[in-house]
Amino acid sequence: MEQLDAASRHRSVLLDESLGFFDFATSEIIVDATLGMGGHSEEMLERSESLRVIGLDQDAAALKLATERLARFGNRFTAIHTNFADIRSALADAGIEAVDGVLADLGLSSFQIDSPERGFSFRFDAPLDMRMDPDSGYQTAAELLEELEEVEIANVIYRFGEERASRKIARRIVKRREQGRPVKTTTELADLVASVLGRKHGERIHPATRTFQALRIAVNRETEILEGFIDDAADVLKPGGVIAIIAFHSLEDRIVKNEFRRLSGKCSCPPRMPVCQCRAVKKLEILTKKPIEPTPAEAEANPRARSAKLRSARRLAEQEAR
Ligand SMILES: [Zn+2]
Repeated sequence: MEQLDAASRHRSVLLDESLGFFDFATSEIIVDATLGMGGHSEEMLERSESLRVIGLDQDAAALKLATERLARFGNRFTAIHTNFADIRSALADAGIEAVDGVLADLGLSSFQIDSPERGFSFRFDAPLDMRMDPDSGYQTAAELLEELEEVEIANVIYRFGEERASRKIARRIVKRREQGRPVKTTTELADLVASVLGRKHGERIHPATRTFQALRIAVNRETEILEGFIDDAADVLKPGGVIAIIAFHSLEDRIVKNEFRRLSGKCSCPPRMPVCQCRAVKKLEILTKKPIEPTPAEAEANPRARSAKLRSARRLAEQEAR
């Protein structure tokens, strides 16, 4: 099982690199769309004496901890209990029309990784839930594994986990189900995946890592949510405002890259499509041709950082977007 020291779990990834895209001398309001433990927000508030930070998180417990941590900044910090996908309505409800920056760290917040009872990790035995927001009404991971067709389970594990043994794993999950003992706990799933894949000598990550990631993405509908979030975040930026997003696996990074491209006006439709179907629109200028990755020193010091990729874009003014 993976061993992360406590300190590394609570350290923000690519902190300086992501904040480097914002102008703290002139910015009035920046949204920390994935507040988590409040590490990024704290650093932003420390870099300016007048900046206001709006922190969004769908996890009430994380929100409470971050609010306590940031209490010393008084009314310069506002916490809003909402999914980052609701950035537009959350800001409207708070009476905010436009912002100078939006930051999102798509990694599972450290707090959630540490909560064994919610079934995010195979390091602890727990019911296989994986919902970030238990009030979301979404199905749990165990419910998905009970109800989806075998081919659907395989597709989820392949697409969202990039797991090559997806079909074998799906077969085994459905076989257990047919035998009247569906997979219901983190340990059952981790053991099942390990028994399909075996464990290669010297492998650093547990073989079930990719399958767990895939289920988490499916349970929380993370791909749809991420696309909608980027679209809305681009809309709430002032001209010249900046969005910075840190992704933790290639699927997420691909979504960020493609949405940024679409919002920079690059049509991705097949050549003979008579009318653009991809909704390309010129609103953003991409600031990172290639994603920014952690330095070898950061990757060495913080295992969570190893797969992190940062991309940023700037909102164009009306006249630039023509
Ligand atoms: Zn198009």
